[in-house]
Amino acid sequence: MKKDYDVVIVGSGVAGLYGALNLDPALRVLLLCKRSLVLSNSALAQGGVAAVIDTQHDSVDSHFNDTLIAGGFKNNKDSVDILVNQGPQEVRKLIEYGVDFDKVDGAIHFTLEGGHSKPRILHHKDFTGRAIVETLIETVKSRPNIDVAENSIVCGIKKGTNFSFDIYIDGEHQVVSSYYCLLATGGIGRVYEYTTNSKIATGDGIALAYRLGAKIRNLHLVQFHPTGFANKLTRETFLISESVRGEGAYLLNCHRERFMQKYDERLELAPRDVVSHAIMEEEKATGSSEFYLDITHKDPEAVKNRFPMIYENVLKQGVDMTKEPIPVYPCQHYLMGGIDVSTEGKTSIDGLYAAGECSHTGVHGNNRLASNSLLEALVFSHRAADEINRLMKSTGGPIKSAVFPEDENTLPLPSGIRTETRAIMQRAYFVVPNQQEIVKGYERIAELKKMLEQTPYRVDRNYVEALSLVTVAYIILKELL
Ligand SMILES: Cc1cc2nc3c(=O)[nH]c(=O)nc-3n(C[C@H](O)[C@H](O)[C@H](O)COP(=O)(O)OP(=O)(O)OC[C@H]3O[C@@H](n4cnc5c(N)ncnc54)[C@H](O)[C@@H]3O)c2cc1C
Repeated sequence: MKKDYDVVIVGSGVAGLYGALNLDPALRVLLLCKRSLVLSNSALAQGGVAAVIDTQHDSVDSHFNDTLIAGGFKNNKDSVDILVNQGPQEVRKLIEYGVDFDKVDGAIHFTLEGGHSKPRILHHKDFTGRAIVETLIETVKSRPNIDVAENSIVCGIKKGTNFSFDIYIDGEHQVVSSYYCLLATGGIGRVYEYTTNSKIATGDGIALAYRLGAKIRNLHLVQFHPTGFANKLTRETFLISESVRGEGAYLLNCHRERFMQKYDERLELAPRDVVSHAIMEEEKATGSSEFYLDITHKDPEAVKNRFPMIYENVLKQGVDMTKEPIPVYPCQHYLMGGIDVSTEGKTSIDGLYAAGECSHTGVHGNNRLASNSLLEALVFSHRAADEINRLMKSTGGPIKSAVFPEDENTLPLPSGIRTETRAIMQRAYFVVPNQQEIVKGYERIAELKKMLEQTPYRVDRNYVEALSLVTVAYIILKELL
């Protein structure tokens, strides 16, 4: 790692990797991630990426409309227009890089997911994210202008003439500076007790941007996926992808009866927020939190072939999905809000860009349409990179580094802060907001935030992630008050 770069990218998910690949190869780029390169929400994506490639049977207008319907028409239409029109070219670029999307008789196979009126989801079995991320990592590593640093957590960012980053690596702090910064730090799932998100999803980029004074928007727009595997023993809930319902699975209540007809005419293929709300209503009606996803009426070999990872994972939990229904329950899955950005990924801070799940482009409105987030990460990280390439032409001069105080604090963070934060969020806002718990929770979270900010705790991964979770919870509850 050098001292100075033209651009520092924080995050090695699809947004960070694709952003890096679209920067001018003449620029000196540092790409940071706080654990291994492959540990990200991107690598967990199962279902696929939505794009209108098959223009004979589908249209961008239809993708546009489906996105608006899922988002409750609260989407930013300009952003959606860019998403659906620019999306196909980015997906073709992935194919050029070597992403091997599934094919039938030599032609790309498009699958259907909830909320889409046409089959337009490109996928690699049921581990599309891993396939994309592995290809992008290989390509990034082949670029001599991009330095990659794993296990490097950004603890703080200062903005003077340039950006300076306090990075904690192997128990030590290092400072790196740059002209431009692209935050691609992903989501906030770990602020909840049960989430599909990877352990990196602690909202660090949002908290860092908030402390820099950037505008944060709609952080309360959290998506709860209706079908997480119902195993309350582990925090990381294994996702039973939307595409299982897309391929015809039925949602059953505790009496093993279908019930979606009571709530929405689109049945199991209604958008996620509708299905999650229906489950909560049905729970009230039956008095039971037992729910199942049943695909046993489909050909077992076809199911195993289409969903090899899901099949293996639920089998490890003792459920053979070709013979018995899968126990499911809603859980936190995605964040529609985030660091507010323009259609060029620009935040309210000069030189600071954001893309992917940590950003708010407004494409998703109140509820993200399945498989639109990988697409958003591709389209808007590319646009942010284009903007930085353009601005770099007139950027120059020596980079001025800021000084971070020596971290001489030895006080370790007391245990239990993350657990308490998660319990507060689970009570205050899980699918349906609980106003009484929001008020109570906000007061306690505000106390925790003050304590974390004012006590001289040792600045390490533990502290940074706890402060991020508390900051994110604080902003969400404040918005909901
Ligand atoms: C189980 C699951 C299934 C999904 N399925 C789909 C799907 O089928 N289709 C779809 O479109 N979307 C899907 N999504 C959503 C989608 O995967 C994510 O929204 C998207 O990949 C986010 O990409 P990203 O690049 O913004 O962030 P991520 O991929 O989460 O990457 C975040 C990066 O930031 C780094 N980072 C964070 N904080 C710091 C810090 N302080 N210092 C240094 N580095 C830091 C992390 O190390 C990581 O490298 C799914 C999500 C999950 C969890």
